[in-house]
Amino acid sequence: MNFTWKVRLAVGESLVKWLKVSRGIIVDKGTENCPLCKLFYNEGDCKGCPIKKITGKDLCYGTPYDAWINHHNNNHRNLDSDTDGRGIECPECKELARDQFYFILDMIEMGVEDIISDEGNKPQAMLADGGK
Ligand SMILES: [Zn+2]
Repeated sequence: MNFTWKVRLAVGESLVKWLKVSRGIIVDKGTENCPLCKLFYNEGDCKGCPIKKITGKDLCYGTPYDAWINHHNNNHRNLDSDTDGRGIECPECKELARDQFYFILDMIEMGVEDIISDEGNKPQAMLADGGK
């Protein structure tokens, strides 16, 4: 599978993740259960991630994920979210998880291939692999 398809697959899996989170099937564990993080995340740096390419920021700052994290920190901190993950605890949680789902859906509609077409965004490991 070439690099473009690996990224497309990870974007699709991220979409499924947020659908499942919004329905309370799974919880969000940040980088631990993000398919895009598995490809791109490296010690606080998200170089090459199509989300970063859109926002210009690491760690999903500038996406609806900000509001999701803030909401959990302000309302559900007692649940020890860092260990147990962030799930659906109230109606607003559901709205915010849906917002992240739609952010990723918009990204797909923008054309993931266009977003990642810049060679300079490929991680070094991928370049060493011939960029495929
Ligand atoms: Zn909530």
